[in-house]
Amino acid sequence: VALCEAEAAPPARSGPGVVEPRFNWKLFWQFLRPHLLVLGAAIVLALGAALVNVQIPLLLGQLVEIVAKYTRDHVGSFLTESRNLSTHLLILYGLQGLLTFGYLALLSRIGEHMAADMRRALFSNLLRQDIAFFDAKKTGQLVSRLTTDVQEFKSSFKLAISQGLRSCTQVAGCLVSLSMLSTRLTLLLMVATPALMGAGTLMGSALRKLSRQCQEQVARATGVADEALGNVRTVRAFAMEQREEEHGLGHPVYWGLPRGRTAADRGRPHVLPGGLPDSAEPAAPHDDEEATHRLDRWTLAPPLTQGGACDDMSSGNFVWGPPRVPPVIQCLLFPSFSGRSNMLFPTFVSPRFPREWTALDLTPRSMANLSVLFGQVVRGLSAGTRVFEYMTLSPCIPLSGGHCIPKEHLRGAITFHNVSFSYPCRPGLQVLRDFTLTLPPGKIVALVGQSGGGKTTVASLLERFYDPTAGMVTLDGQDLRALDPSWLRGQVIGFISQEPVLFGTTVMENIRFGKPGASDEEVYAAAREANAHEFITSFPEGYNTVVGERGATLSGGQKQRLALARALIKQPSVLILDEATSALDSESERLVQEALDRASAGRTVLVIAHRLSTVRGAHQIVVMAHGRVCEVGTHEELLKKGRLYSELIRRQALDAPPPEMSR
Ligand code: ADP
Ligand code: MG
Repeated sequence: VALCEAEAAPPARSGPGVVEPRFNWKLFWQFLRPHLLVLGAAIVLALGAALVNVQIPLLLGQLVEIVAKYTRDHVGSFLTESRNLSTHLLILYGLQGLLTFGYLALLSRIGEHMAADMRRALFSNLLRQDIAFFDAKKTGQLVSRLTTDVQEFKSSFKLAISQGLRSCTQVAGCLVSLSMLSTRLTLLLMVATPALMGAGTLMGSALRKLSRQCQEQVARATGVADEALGNVRTVRAFAMEQREEEHGLGHPVYWGLPRGRTAADRGRPHVLPGGLPDSAEPAAPHDDEEATHRLDRWTLAPPLTQGGACDDMSSGNFVWGPPRVPPVIQCLLFPSFSGRSNMLFPTFVSPRFPREWTALDLTPRSMANLSVLFGQVVRGLSAGTRVFEYMTLSPCIPLSGGHCIPKEHLRGAITFHNVSFSYPCRPGLQVLRDFTLTLPPGKIVALVGQSGGGKTTVASLLERFYDPTAGMVTLDGQDLRALDPSWLRGQVIGFISQEPVLFGTTVMENIRFGKPGASDEEVYAAAREANAHEFITSFPEGYNTVVGERGATLSGGQKQRLALARALIKQPSVLILDEATSALDSESERLVQEALDRASAGRTVLVIAHRLSTVRGAHQIVVMAHGRVCEVGTHEELLKKGRLYSELIRRQALDAPPPEMSR
């Protein structure tokens, strides 16, 4: 329930009442720990580079001093005086290059390793989540966490360490060298810095919120794109390409472009891929659009102004901006050239201040870098929060663990004891009420009833995709909750649904999905049992035919028979057939039905059917209505009763007389 509530109030627009997830430092530490040694090496190299970086401008300052002296006095030899200095400078530049390359390479290595580890951990934890979790989430949004957010986190991490170290050491180094040269300058800077830091902290919290909204929007766009590409046939059939483009990755926001939407566009309602107006959050896309642009303005501004600051420095103009030294102070410090613009380099540097100038130039520049960094760190932290959020989520129904019944003792008797159930994301709707049903071992029980009556829900409870809200389901008298779910799903129950889903690989691998490690012979046997062997061998590539994504290159009947083979290869004791033939034409239905009849022998079978003609042979027919069992009996008994079942039969006979009846 908590899970669905969280979804109902999207984090993008969380009000004051919603707790924003926090960055999980503990988890981060676990990912970082294996790389501490390399990180240490990177930090040492970065510190070295920073040291060199502080040295270079000081030497440059000396060089400028010599140049200035030479142009003023025209005494001595310029070359001899500057040779030593120049060589020194060249060596330092070389060293700086090497050190920088070294620590960037090391940091990249750590970043890539960590990103890979994080992706793996997140993916494996996502696969473990309850079905209810996936009911509430869009796959595209989950994929976005695996890709975009991990990426964002990785680059922020790299930047934070490399830039952060450099800027911090530079600021410190400059302050030290500045204090040796002039106490007045140092004091002024020390006063200005805390004020800037304070402003930065204030910006931070606003920025974090914006960043989260922004990433949420990207995730949403990815979700739309994923859904549209995955269901391109439906999109094409409704000529919805344009709309999907506007709400998916083609959305200007995604590319960080300025709003390119026309007035007409803005007037249109937001439409979800299904074509339904998104009434739950009508204003969301516009809010988020705003958010993305605001964020871009905030985080793009520092690099722009920072560049400006440096340019302005050398042209003698200073522009006001948070990360820089206020112009008033600049004027105080450099009365000689403030206000004068476009001065040539050698003439504008006052010979009295060259060292102060270089140190002072570097200090605000490093602080400006820190502010850029700050924006990036905020982005990275919120991306990391999103990655770690699902990494720590633990499912209510574990994947494995629990009791197994040995194969020789397994009878396959299933009972639903007064089961009540409502879906976690729709707690208001009770789908099953006090539902009681027994599936005797080795018998076929048919479940019929209106569409939406809860038949598939019964099958889902039996697979333990969900746990009942009240009551219990037992297998051979043991509560399903005490049994090992992976054993239950992997070896006991075979499930065939109305819309079989295959994977985009070969026929062979698709069938083997039911029993990893099965031999080729087992696969052929299962295919024969499912009436699939013939059509498979008729393909030019036989069992090595690739079926296309979700089995898109096969007909419905072929897909269903492959799904049946995949279920039969695990030799299940219990078979659930959820409207397995209802989507098929009569010829395919005959082939599938034949295979199903063969497979049903000796197994406990739950047949869910809408078309009543298919359940006539069942040992027992159960009629469901309003989440309860209404009638139980054989076809003849129920007909004799003349109640719900015979009513259903009469209605279906009127709608479409089955072939046997019309004969
Ligand atoms: P049937 O198989 O008999 O047609 P279902 O068991 O699929 O019916 O659905 C029963 C009810 O539960 C329907 O009202 C349906 O809207 C709802 N429902 C089905 N699946 C979900 C789900 N994953 N989340 C929330 N509600 C669901
Ligand atoms: Mg159903």
